[in-house]
Amino acid sequence: MSTETETNVRVEDKLFQNRYLVDAGRPHITVTPHTVPSPRLLALTHVCPAGCYTQADSGQVEISTDGCVECGTCRVVAEPYGEITWNYPRGGFGVLFKFG
Ligand code: SF4
Repeated sequence: MSTETETNVRVEDKLFQNRYLVDAGRPHITVTPHTVPSPRLLALTHVCPAGCYTQADSGQVEISTDGCVECGTCRVVAEPYGEITWNYPRGGFGVLFKFG
């Protein structure tokens, strides 16, 4: 029996409503090159609500900014330690929120 209401819609389904315009070749967030990821970088693979951070087979943490909702979580966690660089996307690029 399906009892899904507006209050129990999955976050992933809500995020799918947004649109994202990729600024090809100009990611607004980058991960500082590293050989072994710090606990902070590894945490980003769990805390990013859009799943932008992944751990490669090589062990390094990578980012794909497609789908980033600009929440700033990774900025708070890792930018003060120089482990990422974070900027807003250029005008006209990035997330386009669908409200309602
Ligand atoms: S700003 Fe938010 S959505 Fe974007 S990469 Fe960082 S944690 Fe993920």
